[in-house]
Amino acid sequence: MSIRIRRAPFLMPLAAAACLLPLQPSGAGLAVRSAGAAPAITLEVDAREAPQKIFHSRLVIPASPGPLTLYYPKWIPGEHGPTGPITDLAGLRVTAGGKPVAWNRDAEDMYAFHVEVPAGAKVIEVAFDFLSPVGEGRYSAGASATANLAVLSWNQLVLYPAGASSDAWTYAVRLRLPSGWGFGTALPVAQNAGDRIDFIPVTLTKLVDSPVAAGLHYRRIPLTPEGVTPHVIDLVADSPEALEMSEDLIAGYRRLVAEADALFGAEHFQRYHFLYTLSDRVAHFGLEHHESSDDRQAERTLIEPDRRRLSTGLLPHEYVHSWNGKYRRPAGLATPDYQAPMKTELLWVYEGLTQYLGFVLNGRSRLSSPEDWRQNLAQVAAYLDQRPGRTWRPLIDTAVAAQLLYNASEEWQEWRRGTDFYNESLLIWLEADVLIRQLTSAHRSLDDFCQRFHGGESGPPKVVPYTFDDVVGALGEIAPYDWRSFLTSRLESTAPHAPLGGITNGGWRLAFGDTAHALYKTGERVRKVADERYTIGLLLQESGAVTDVVQGLPAARVGVAPGMKLVAVNGRAWSRDVLREAIRATKTRSQPLELLVENGDSFKSYKLDYRGGGRYPTLERDSSKPDLLSEIGKPHAAK
Ligand SMILES: [Zn+2]
Repeated sequence: MSIRIRRAPFLMPLAAAACLLPLQPSGAGLAVRSAGAAPAITLEVDAREAPQKIFHSRLVIPASPGPLTLYYPKWIPGEHGPTGPITDLAGLRVTAGGKPVAWNRDAEDMYAFHVEVPAGAKVIEVAFDFLSPVGEGRYSAGASATANLAVLSWNQLVLYPAGASSDAWTYAVRLRLPSGWGFGTALPVAQNAGDRIDFIPVTLTKLVDSPVAAGLHYRRIPLTPEGVTPHVIDLVADSPEALEMSEDLIAGYRRLVAEADALFGAEHFQRYHFLYTLSDRVAHFGLEHHESSDDRQAERTLIEPDRRRLSTGLLPHEYVHSWNGKYRRPAGLATPDYQAPMKTELLWVYEGLTQYLGFVLNGRSRLSSPEDWRQNLAQVAAYLDQRPGRTWRPLIDTAVAAQLLYNASEEWQEWRRGTDFYNESLLIWLEADVLIRQLTSAHRSLDDFCQRFHGGESGPPKVVPYTFDDVVGALGEIAPYDWRSFLTSRLESTAPHAPLGGITNGGWRLAFGDTAHALYKTGERVRKVADERYTIGLLLQESGAVTDVVQGLPAARVGVAPGMKLVAVNGRAWSRDVLREAIRATKTRSQPLELLVENGDSFKSYKLDYRGGGRYPTLERDSSKPDLLSEIGKPHAAK
C-alpha cells in the first residue's frame, strides 16, 4: 500500500434501507463445483444502493452438520494491519433450509462467528449488510461510495469457513450495480446482462485481490496495443469533466508500462487494471493488488495542473507492487488466510523498494519532469535528514510497528516518526543502486537485481516469499559486497542524519535556497499547509493549526507545539505569505520574529531567536562526480 494521501473530511447521514436479492437455491444458478476442490461458495452482492452507502451480501456455504466457524477477513493484504472493517458488518442472519440458525461471536476474536449446522443440512445461507464508511477510515475501511460511484473491496462483503487457506475456497460471484453504471475489475467476467454481472468462479484469494470500481461516469483507457497483455485504466469519477485525462498523460502511462517491462523483464499477471477513482468524497490512497490497483485521488486531479503535477507518483508505485509485494512477498506477509497475523519487519523492502522503483519509473516514463523528479527527492531527503525521531527510533522499528503507525495522528510525527520505511528506504535503495554502479564500473545496477529477483518467467499470478537473507544473497549475486552490514547499519541506526549517500555519490548534494521551489509551493497550496520546517521548524495547516514542530529548532525551543494555533506574525493576522515574508526578513530585521499563538482559550506571544531567512530544500549538482542520478532517471525502454 498503500500510500495514504489524505483523510476524507466529510460526514453524511447513513441510510438504513434493506433490499435483499432472491437467493439462488443450492445446486442451481451460480452454484458450481471447482475440479477436485470443495464445492464453491456462492456470493451475491447487491450494490444497487451504493449511493445510500449500504451493500447487501448473501452467501450459500456448503456445510456438514455440526459446529462451524465463519471468519470476516481481519488482516487485509496491502493494508499491513488488522484493519478489516468489522464494525460495518450489520444485519447478520444465518439460516439452513429457510430456518434461522443461531450465531455467537467468539469471545476473543471479534472477527469469528460460531454456528451449529443442523442435522440434514448440506448448506447454510448467510446474509449481512456492509455499511460503507462515511467517516475518516482508511483503505477498505475508508469512505468508498458516493452518489455516483463505488469501489467494492470483496473483503468487506464475504465470510469464509475456518479450517482451510484462502486458496482452498472457490467463490462464484454475482454482482448487481446501479442502473447505467460502468465498471472495471481484474476479475474475469462470465456474463454481463444489464446491471447484473456474473464472474467466473475464483479462489477467495483472487476475489479479495480483485476489487471493482464502478460509477455513472466511467471511462476505459487502453494502455497496450492488441496482442500483448492487456493493461487498462478504468476511470470512475463524480463528474464527467473529471474523466478528461489528456493524451499527453495517457502517453505517460503507456511509457510507464513499457518502462516497467524494461525494468523487470517479465510480467506475473494476465491483465492489469488501474482502477482510478476521482472523487472528493472517498478516502484517498493507493492499494495494490496482483492484477490491479485501487487508486483514489481528488476529483479534479486530472484537470487541475497543480493536482496533476503532484499526483503522478501514485500509479507507478502501485504498479510496481505487482512485482514487489504481490509476486515477491516477505515471508511474514505471505499468510494462508486473513486471520493469521502478518509480520511486517520487511516492509522496508515491500514498501521501501516499491517507493524507490516507483520514483525511478516516474522519472523514466517522464510522468514528472526531470527537474520535478529531482526536487521531489530533495524534499524527501530534507525532512528525513532533520527528523528528530530518528535519534530514538531506528527505521526497522517503523516497519515492525507499521500497524500502529498507519493509524498514528499527524501531530508529533517529527518526534514519533511515521511510516518512514517508505521514503527513508527510498534513500537506502538509491544508495544501493549507486553503489552497485560504482562497484561494477557501471556494468550493473539495481535494474539487474530487479530482473533477477522479480523477473524470471512471465505467467499468471503467484507468490514467491523471501527473507532478509534472500535479499542479501540476491544483491551479492549482482555485485559482491557486505550487503548485510550495509542494510543492517542503516536499518538499525539512530544517527541524527539520514543516509544521503545515494544523492552525494550520485553526483548531487542536498542544499537549501532562500526561496522555495515551485513544486514545494504547489505542494503547500494543494495540501493547504505552510511548511516552515527548515527555517523555524514549524508545520501548519491553512487554518493556523500547528501540525508539528521540529525539536531543537526555534519554534519548539520557545514552546510552540502541536494542538496550538498560529494567530498573528509580527502583529499581523497570519497567512502563509505573511509568515514567509516575516521569516525572510529575519536576516535584516533587528527585532525578533514574534508569533501570537492560541492554546485552547489562552493566548501567548512568543519571540523567536532566528536570523536565518528563507531556507527551502533543493538539489545542487556536484560536478566533481559523475551524474549517476540523472542516468537512473532517464528513459530506458526501447522506443
Ligand atoms: Zn505501497
